[in-house]
Parts: sequence; structure tokens; C-alpha cells
Amino acid sequence: MIGGTVRLSDLPLRADLAGQSPYGAPQLDVPVQINTNENPFPPSPALIDDLVESIAKVAADLNRYPDRDAVALRRELAAYLARTTGLPLTVQNVWAANGSNEILQQLLQAFGGPGRRALGFEPSYSMHSIISTGTQTAWVPAPRAADFTIDVPGAVRIIEQQRPDLLFITSPNNPTGGSIALDDIRQLVRATGGIVVIDEAYAEFSGRPSAVALIDEFPAQVVVSRTMSKAFAFAGGRLGYLAAAPAVVDALLLVRLPYHLSALTQAAALAALRHGDDTLASVDRLIAERIRVTGALRSQGYEVIDSDANFFLFGRFDDAQAVWQAFLDHGVLIRDNGVPGFLRATVGTEHENDVLLSVSALLKEKS
Ligand code: PMP
Repeated sequence: MIGGTVRLSDLPLRADLAGQSPYGAPQLDVPVQINTNENPFPPSPALIDDLVESIAKVAADLNRYPDRDAVALRRELAAYLARTTGLPLTVQNVWAANGSNEILQQLLQAFGGPGRRALGFEPSYSMHSIISTGTQTAWVPAPRAADFTIDVPGAVRIIEQQRPDLLFITSPNNPTGGSIALDDIRQLVRATGGIVVIDEAYAEFSGRPSAVALIDEFPAQVVVSRTMSKAFAFAGGRLGYLAAAPAVVDALLLVRLPYHLSALTQAAALAALRHGDDTLASVDRLIAERIRVTGALRSQGYEVIDSDANFFLFGRFDDAQAVWQAFLDHGVLIRDNGVPGFLRATVGTEHENDVLLSVSALLKEKS
């Protein structure tokens, strides 16, 4: 290594970044990795063959920049959303980027920034505050109720006081798992004049209708963020997207980097979408497993928060960090999101879930 004599504190870092922590889910090589809400099922052999063939085709043109606007991919994403919501979305309603994190960053670049603020209901997805800070958008945390739902009248009061430029609503919420009704979202949208980002990374696992249904009602406000990382089992492919009024897409064109989505990413995502029906069959299997595992944990004496996603929060623990470590010592990596008394586990394969349940039973006996 060279340059090791310089420390972070020696660098002329922006003052608002000093002392911040990076996003940090541990990546540890243990037998059961159920800590980052991935889909546990790998791509099918048919998908892999299709993907390899598609990549071979684009490889012949890698000397050229990719389609800057990813039109073919956006058209397929719009078709998927139109099919699942019954709404007439077109390519102009959809934008795509490298994971929904990049979508969120572009939204904050366009609608946040110095002098502006973003509000979210915590505990929620930590990247909302991290990306806000990164784009110099002031982060305003608002509390959730004791059962982790959003207390709508209370939220309306806070929104009216704080007047955020952006409001984040995560549904289903990560890390708590619950989702919010469209009528409640409507009230929150009406309370703010600003952009409302409904982060639906886990929408496919939820029985609730998508907030895409609200776009036409609030075209200058509602943006729905989605990802292929979870239900589509494409976390490694890095593909996130949003649905919104075409004018929102026009705004993002002002801040996106040219050619941000590589030709390889576009081709791989198109292949994944062609096999979408097959991949999405895992959703029902994971929901059935979520019901089985959360039921079993409750029978073992744990408290489990109702979840509409492919993960769940369980507890209560006097020392969640020590319990996290005890699971890890038995080869099971789950997540401590810093919610006092609780840990989060992703629904894995049937076998992974059985291992989780055998360790949870063992730890309960010992406690
Ligand atoms: N939103 C939420 C609520 C998430 O939990 C995640 C991933 N953990 C993301 C967005 C980002 O996912 P990706 O960048 O892989 O699309």
C-alpha cells in the first residue's frame, strides 16, 4: 500500500461529512447470510443462458457508448408496471439507474440540495438520510409510533411544521416490514407541497396496491421508486427504477451522469425481465416462508413485527448486539439496524430458515 500516512481527518473533507458513518451492512462469508434482504434463489439456468447470449451480443459493440436513455429497458419496465398495476404507464413514466439508491440520489440532486430539506419516518431505510446528507439536503427525522406504523395525524402536523421539500415514505418499510395504505399516503401528500418519494423496494411482497396509482392524482408530487434487487433476484445486476410523471424524468435528465447505465447492465436487466414471470414465482414461496418462520418464532416466545416484505423484525432483546453475535457464532448472519431491542432477518431458502429457527430455539432455551 502507498499513501497510508494520510488519515481521513487529515483530508479537507466537507464539514457536514466529518464524523458520518458509511452504509455498513457487514459482508461476512458464513453459511446462512440473511442480512441484506436479498432473494435467496439464484437465477435460473435459462435466464443465465439468455443473459450470457445477450451480453455476447452487446460485447461486440462495447467500443460505443450505450443508449444514454435506456429506452428499450425503460419500455419493458413500464410494461411490467402497467401489467401489475393495471395503469397505462409508458416509457416516459419510467426512469432507470444503477440500483434504486442511484434513483434516490438523482431525486435528491434534482429536488434537494443546499437550503432544502428531506423528511422521513424513522426507523426506516438508512440510505434516505445518508444520501440526503451527501447531497447537502438537511435531513429531518420524524418518529414512527411504538408499533412502527406512521401515526398519520401526527405526521401531518410535523409535515406542516417542517415543510420538507422531499418526503420519504417507505412501503413496506425497511427494517420494520409494515406497509401503509394509499389513503394514508394521500393525506401525507396533501399535507406537503413537495415531492413525495414512495420507496417501494419490497412492493412485490406486499398485498397492498402500489402508490403508482397516485401518480395521476398528484403528478407534480408523487414518485415511486422500485428495484430489481429483491423480487427480481437481481441485486448483483444493480437496477433500480422509478415511476412518475414524464416531467419528473425530464428533471432527472439534468442531473444523471451521461451513459450511467452500462450496455452490460441494460442487456442483463432486459434478460432478467424476459424471465420475470419465472423469477417472480419465488415471491409466493418467500411469502409462505415468511408466514411459517414468523409464526414459528412467535411460538418460540419471540415478538415479531407484522411484515409485508421479505424480511421481519423480531425481539425483544435486552442486548440486541449480543444476540446478533450469538446468531453469527452459529453461522447465521442477520442484521442489527439499531432499532432498540430488535433484530432483522431476511426470509431465506427453506433450509436457511430452518437453520435460523433452530438457532433461535437454542438461544431462547439459554436465555
Ligand atoms: N430502498 C429500500 C427500502 C431498501 O431496503 C433498499 C436496499 N436494501 C434500497 C432502496 C436500495 O436497493 P437497490 O439500490 O439495490 O435497488
